[in-house]
Amino acid sequence: MATRAKTPTAAAKRGERLWTPAELIAILDEAYGRAPQQASNAPVFELVLTLLSQHTSDRNSGQAMHRLIERFPTWDAVIEAPVPEVEDAIRAGGLAPTKSKRLHALLAEVKSRVPDWDLGFLRELPLEEAKAWLTSIAGVGPKTAACVLLFALERPALPVDTHVERVSKRLGLVPSKMPADKAHAVLEAMIEPDEVYAFHVDLIQHGRRTCHARGPKCDECPLEKRCPKVGV
Ligand code: SF4
Repeated sequence: MATRAKTPTAAAKRGERLWTPAELIAILDEAYGRAPQQASNAPVFELVLTLLSQHTSDRNSGQAMHRLIERFPTWDAVIEAPVPEVEDAIRAGGLAPTKSKRLHALLAEVKSRVPDWDLGFLRELPLEEAKAWLTSIAGVGPKTAACVLLFALERPALPVDTHVERVSKRLGLVPSKMPADKAHAVLEAMIEPDEVYAFHVDLIQHGRRTCHARGPKCDECPLEKRCPKVGV
């Protein structure tokens, strides 16, 4: 049976060398393959999609996004519509009453700051300033800001979702009790800018396919040899 609650410190004391981000990427690329990074160049789209994807599957949020765009061909049209109509359009994504109000407020805030919806200037700002600009919008946290910067604008900001957080903690990259917001900064600091996308995608694939929240498949895991299995 696996032992419980190992800590990175305990693992380090035993002389176990943890995987480096570069090693993890090489091994997980080999195990799962990975699509190349391709910027969507649509930051407002990413902002909306990330909001819709909270607490639901990719499939449901994709459906909600599809219906939103089908019903409202522009972001201005979303703001001008009554909230119940927006709620109806995004129902497939779950939590529609809450998300529709947040979406309305979010888009109204973006519109008030950038009337032509062009957030391309975030590509030119220093990374920390770009993050600060996004997270100063009510309802936009570090993960959402990082999704916009990474997927739309190819900036090296690391979104730490539930899979990235869980796998990183089990591998001993960050302390198991560190809150997700802090883990963002710590993980991002240990990864080279050109590794951020690969690290994010690979850890999500690993979390979905092998290092499950319940019953991780350690016996089949390509990282097992040097994984301290923190908390497993
Ligand atoms: S599946 Fe097990 S061995 Fe592999 S990374 Fe997760 S905890 Fe470590």
